[in-house]
Parts: sequence; C-alpha cells; structure tokens
Amino acid sequence: MNRIDYLRISLIDRCNFQCQYCMPEGSEIEYVLRQNWLTRDEIRVLLQEVFIPLGFTRFRLTGGEPLLRPDVVEIVQDIATLPQTEDLAMTTNAFRLATLAQPLWDAGLRRINISLDSLDPQIFQEIVGGKGRLRWHEVWAGIQAAHQVGFSPLKLNVVVIPGVNDHEVLDLAALSLEREWHVRFIEFMPIGNGDLFQNRGWVSSEELRQRIRDRWGLAESTVRGNGPADVFQIPGAKGTLGFISQMSECFCDRCNRMRLSADGWLRPCLLNETGQIDLRTLLRDGKPLTYLRDQVAELLAAKPEINYKMRDSGTTGAYSRTMSQIGG
Ligand code: SAM
Ligand code: SF4
Repeated sequence: MNRIDYLRISLIDRCNFQCQYCMPEGSEIEYVLRQNWLTRDEIRVLLQEVFIPLGFTRFRLTGGEPLLRPDVVEIVQDIATLPQTEDLAMTTNAFRLATLAQPLWDAGLRRINISLDSLDPQIFQEIVGGKGRLRWHEVWAGIQAAHQVGFSPLKLNVVVIPGVNDHEVLDLAALSLEREWHVRFIEFMPIGNGDLFQNRGWVSSEELRQRIRDRWGLAESTVRGNGPADVFQIPGAKGTLGFISQMSECFCDRCNRMRLSADGWLRPCLLNETGQIDLRTLLRDGKPLTYLRDQVAELLAAKPEINYKMRDSGTTGAYSRTMSQIGG
C-alpha cells in the first residue's frame, strides 16, 4: 500500500464560477455555513498536531474557489512556514490571481494549478457561467501574473467535454510548446453535474494522446509527477502534457492522499465516503488532540485498498456531492 502523505485541504465550498461540469447554474447546493468553516487556527492545529505527526508533509489548498477565502494568504503563510511542510500547492480558477499571485508567492506558495478549459473567451464563459464582462480575461491575467511572479512549472487543468471544448485540445496542448507550462487533460467525471455527462459523454486520455501524436508526435516524459497524471511531452516542447484518466483507468493503487473538507470532514477517498471523520466537531468539543490523531491513524490504516473505477460507478451523475463540495 502507498504511503499516504498528501492532504488536500478545501478552504471553502463556494465558488464565483458555476462550471457546467462542476456546479452548473441552478444546481441546488447546500453550502457550509461560514461559522462551520475550519478557521485558520484550526487548520494550523490540525496539521501541526494531527496530520504532520502521522507523516503528512504535502498539502494542497483547493475548494470551491480557495482565493475567495479572505484569509487565504495567511493560511498559506502558516502552512508554508511549518518546518515539516515539503510541498504546498493550490488549485484555483485564477479569477482573483492577478492581484493575489505576488502576496501568495511572498507567503511561501510555490506551486499552482489553474483551471483553463478554453482559449476562446466566449466558450470559456459558456463553461464557467456568468454574465457581463467575459471572465476569461481576468483568468488569463491571473495566469500571466503567476507566470511572471515565478510559479514554475505552471500547471493548467483542462476538463475535456465533447462538443464543448474538445476541438481545442491541440490549441491547449500547444501552450506547452514555448513555455514551461504543464497542461493537464482531465477526463470528465459524472460527479455533481446532472445531465451534462449523460448528454455529452467523455473523451478518453488515449484518444486525446492520439490526436496530439498525429499532429506533433508524443513521447513519455522523464518528468514524473507525484500525483495521478501520466506525463508526456511533445518532442522539443519546453513544457509537458499530463493526462488524468480516472474514467478509463483505475489509479487507486497510486493513491497517496486524503481530503479535508471546508467544514472539517476527513475523507479517505474521492468516491467512497466510508469511515469519514468529523474533525471540526471533535476539535470544537475539546477532544484531546491525541484522540483526533488516533482516529485519523485508524482511518489511514483502513483506507480502502479498493480498485474503484469511476466508470463503473454509473453515469447518472448520481454521486451526491460536487467536486467543489468534496474539495476536488
Ligand atoms: N475552483 C478551483 C478550480 O477550478 O481549479 C479548485 C476546485 S475544482 C473543484 C478542482 C478541480 O476539479 C478543477 O481542476 C476542476 O476542473 C476539476 N473538476 C471539477 N468537476 C469535475 C468533473 N466533473 N470532472 C473532472 N474534473 C472536475
Ligand atoms: Fe468553481 Fe472550480 Fe468547480 Fe469551476 S471547477 S465551479 S471554478 S470549484
């Protein structure tokens, strides 16, 4: 079994976007009350007293949209300055990144993944929702700011949806040619998106690789991430291409992570909620930190060694939570 040393921490379950594939407009989401968000101090205490003693050294801040959290820079600083932190990263939609890239860098963040599903501002808006000024421009400014501040390699996440953005795959892959950017194609999952998945279906990583191979050639990269992506490179490109294939493959055997939700539930698996622990309630009830640690240790020991294929979970979109709620 893999060593579990990586914690994804959701800072907030809300978002300023309503991506069609994540929380489409009109979806009825029950948000966590603000008073139930783990506070900055609670997050620090949980890391210092519970997770780090159990061997966790790598952390990712996500959401919802983590940059909506008013104290996000302070939280980054707290985690970055813990001596045991070996890696701290963030996944964001970048809408607020143009102004926050420098403060986040100064606070100690060094790795960032940005969702960018289209290079066409109009198509982008159709995917992320919203009226008025096209949001793509803010996002692109955020990407440029992150690049200039020094985040490297900058990772761009693309969820590929047939008939929506799959015709842009080559243009998005081309972003890796001239810059040290890592473009990651994520297979579309039937999580929280109602009919969209049933209506559109999904494209496999292998099909995308074939399209890219036909255009430029494609080689397996010597650079290996420590996550679920298979990494490739267009010959001569500065950056790389990643493929996250949770629909067509099962990578449970590579799983090295747990997830902490914005309201403090620790979940051992994206798809399987068995055994989750309500750490916020235990903490606020004044349970000893050693007790919390023992509970988490037990969950770690029991982390299911299942081979869970997303595809076999059905395509009804019936999974009750969205990625934004789980802390994708
Ligand atoms: N708001 C941030 C963002 O969009 O980058 C962080 C949270 S978001 C839930 C994290 C990741 O989950 C994003 O890269 C998003 O593309 C991915 N995601 C959300 N719903 C998905 C789905 N149904 N299938 C595949 N990926 C999904
Ligand atoms: Fe928000 Fe990220 Fe979900 Fe899009 S994918 S709705 S940006 S949480």
